[in-house]
Amino acid sequence: MGMKKEEMAKEYEEAIASLQKLLSEKEELRAEAAAKVEQVTAQLATAEANGATKPYDAAERLKSGFIYFKKEKYDKNPALYGELAKGQWPKFMLFACSDSRVCPSHVLDMQPGEAFVVRTVANLVPPYDKTKYAGTGAAVEYAVLHLKVSYIVVIGHSACGGIKALLSIPEDGSTLGTDFIEDWIGIASPAGKKVKADHGADAPFADLCGHCEKEAVNVSIGNLLSYPFVREGLLKKTLAIKGGYYDFVNGRFELWDVDFSLNPIFSV
Ligand SMILES: [Zn+2]
Repeated sequence: MGMKKEEMAKEYEEAIASLQKLLSEKEELRAEAAAKVEQVTAQLATAEANGATKPYDAAERLKSGFIYFKKEKYDKNPALYGELAKGQWPKFMLFACSDSRVCPSHVLDMQPGEAFVVRTVANLVPPYDKTKYAGTGAAVEYAVLHLKVSYIVVIGHSACGGIKALLSIPEDGSTLGTDFIEDWIGIASPAGKKVKADHGADAPFADLCGHCEKEAVNVSIGNLLSYPFVREGLLKKTLAIKGGYYDFVNGRFELWDVDFSLNPIFSV
């Protein structure tokens, strides 16, 4: 049941039109809108060039992905997967953004069993709050008290949509009109305020975002200190916290200590 080329073109046209309408309302997102329109147009051109009328088969993608993993990884590492069948003893708890480009297991070449991972929008760690943030709280509690991880690393990244949204919240008290996003990214508002104070609110938007992506990591690290079992781990030196930043535009990674400065432990 292939989609006809005309139908596909119509869908693209509609997508482009709605995108233009949506994003033209936001001044600072115009350049991004133009880029996205270009990308959608390029996709249509590629699809036409390939004569592609076959719809994307999600189930097939998942199936072939697992078959590849099973054959190339699982079946070739019986010792590892045999051990993991008995339990997990990860050294790391990692916080990373939900962004599809920044999977920390992939980027840091972590094997199954090495990292207990939480991915949230803009890799934010909320402060200790039993009712509001039970999901992330449960993950931190489990990682620290039960898995006894040695390190918590909060990893920010370049071109983070969550941080862009944070810095796009109007100063006049109006809202972005989202159900959850604005409230969630508001966790990082101290970072937004700091970078605007340090670099000037009129600094180029992309520069502010870059600084804020790192400062938001420090805010999350500060929030981790509001969890009693995290503080206890730090005092007993069974636990250490580090900040990280993955720049996928330039293919670089930085790691820094929890002294609230951005002095890197390493930068590669
Ligand atoms: Zn992000």
